[in-house]
Amino acid sequence: MTDSGAYLDYAATAPVDPRVAAAMLDCLDVQAGLGNPAALSHAFGARARSRIATAAEEVAGLVHGAADFVIWTGSATEAINLGVIGAARFRRSRGQHLVTSRIEHSAVLASCAALEREGFEVSYVAPDADGIVSPERVAAALRPDTVLVSLMHANNELGTVQDIAAIGALCRDRELLLHVDAAQSLGKLPLDMRGQSIDLLSLNAHKACGPPGIGALLLNPDTVRRVEPVLFGGGQQRGMRPGTLPVHQIVGFGTTCRILRDEMAAETRRFAALREQLWEGIRDLPGLRLNGHPRRRLCHILNVSVDGVEGESLRYALNDLAVSSGSACTSATAEPSYVLRAIGLSDAAAEASIRFSLGRFTTAREIGFAVTVFRAAVEKLQALAPQPLCAG
Ligand code: PLP
Repeated sequence: MTDSGAYLDYAATAPVDPRVAAAMLDCLDVQAGLGNPAALSHAFGARARSRIATAAEEVAGLVHGAADFVIWTGSATEAINLGVIGAARFRRSRGQHLVTSRIEHSAVLASCAALEREGFEVSYVAPDADGIVSPERVAAALRPDTVLVSLMHANNELGTVQDIAAIGALCRDRELLLHVDAAQSLGKLPLDMRGQSIDLLSLNAHKACGPPGIGALLLNPDTVRRVEPVLFGGGQQRGMRPGTLPVHQIVGFGTTCRILRDEMAAETRRFAALREQLWEGIRDLPGLRLNGHPRRRLCHILNVSVDGVEGESLRYALNDLAVSSGSACTSATAEPSYVLRAIGLSDAAAEASIRFSLGRFTTAREIGFAVTVFRAAVEKLQALAPQPLCAG
């Protein structure tokens, strides 16, 4: 708890773990003697390369990927742009059709839109009412000219988890590439690039108590060794993502993954228990609905909507809780979430939706506080809402 209330917005970004910050600070110390990793002629460059190589092992190790095929980026958004656009352009001669879903993060949707502007066609698979994008629906959308399928492992708003292994298997059978956006699931669910037949995997550090400003695209060398760059400059990272590598950011990401390797199993059990405490504390409120799949969902996200209250009043009444609401504020306008609409919610229900997301530093006391604040807000607003007229 802080003076500004309880922070339950970990799915937006998570505080940096002090162990990660210490590892990063160590790199920034002049005594660390780190130079430009591209400098081949001196020990300062060699030390930087060695730190980066260790971090690549740590990140790739957590997801059963290949350390030599980690491409560092500035964010998951950038990794997704490179993975989707870079792979589609690289394979253009084989076909110009992609498959994705309607509930992807805007980084995927906007990358697909950019490809559509250059002549690709994209099929957008609809999820079911729980937010599941079924392998059957994905299979039905495939065409002989499909080159890439892009799906998220777990949805950022609902927490619903997709059956990536099944979708991976069907892509592998047809020799298509599967790109997976795992920005939300890293550290919450096991990821296995080989076992799940993932060809391109986009990650970031900041949702898992690592630093903001660093992401990675991992290539599966069995199926994809190159993508077209989307940035142009020097030859760093085999020309696929040029630019001087930020050693401290990369070391921060590596340390984040090392901590997850050791602590994820226990930590996710704790998250599930805290989320259960939250759900048990509010589930009896009249008109409360759980959004997303009741079981196949991330352990740290709870998305609910409340009948009979107005979205904006609810957000205002929850001022002491840092949570996300079902209207994404893009520029000046607040639009009801396209994800919630895609699973069948009305605009009003989408607007009266709240996503709670917890993480490493969340305490049972904060959850108790959130329950009290949320109950009080809903009960007050429902009491104020106009009652339906009784007929007869
Ligand atoms: N994909 C998903 C599912 C996300 O939740 C996010 C973050 O909001 C992103 C991609 C983009 O991540 P970044 O903030 O690193 O660009």
